[in-house]
Amino acid sequence: MLVYIGLGSNLQEPIEQIECALAGLEQMDGGWLSNFSSLYRSPPMGPQNQPDYLNAVAEIETTLAPLELLDRLQQIEGQQGRVRGRRWGERIIDLDLLLYGDEIFDHPRLQIPHPGIAERLFVLLPMEEVAGPDLEIPGLGRVGELLKKCKGDEITKVRQ
Ligand code: ATP
Ligand code: CA
Ligand code: CA
Repeated sequence: MLVYIGLGSNLQEPIEQIECALAGLEQMDGGWLSNFSSLYRSPPMGPQNQPDYLNAVAEIETTLAPLELLDRLQQIEGQQGRVRGRRWGERIIDLDLLLYGDEIFDHPRLQIPHPGIAERLFVLLPMEEVAGPDLEIPGLGRVGELLKKCKGDEITKVRQ
């Protein structure tokens, strides 16, 4: 199954945190990192009194079921020292399961596609970079079309 993971960090050297999480994805049993985007910087969503975020999107091939994959992602978050604070507050690392093939999944712990995709430039832009504009988000349409409709904050590419 081809899946897309959104990575975000705004604490403790975000570039290193994203790289560390990518290494974690690379080493994950049952998953193979096949591509990843540039790093993008954008202002915080939610509480404004926190640092800007760095975001990226990774593409993975996996044989894991959706909830197994979520467990692994939360393990990686835990290993990097993520602690849960205020909603949309600062974090060392955030790994969101954005897409799982073309499947729609609705579970108390896991919604796929990730519910924030269509409104988030910091997800759509790196996702288009990795998968191209024709990638279909089940129930929502193609990434390229969603990007055109997405009213954006300023977002800058920081590293290729
Ligand atoms: P958002 O989901 O709006 O980006 P967030 O990433 O800050 O917010 P978290 O605190 O990281 O939210 O996660 C809260 C819970 O969301 C997780 O414990 C997880 O069970 C649930 N969740 C639901 N759907 C997903 C998904 N597609 N990917 C990751 N977590 C999800
Ligand atoms: Ca998130
Ligand atoms: Ca999350």
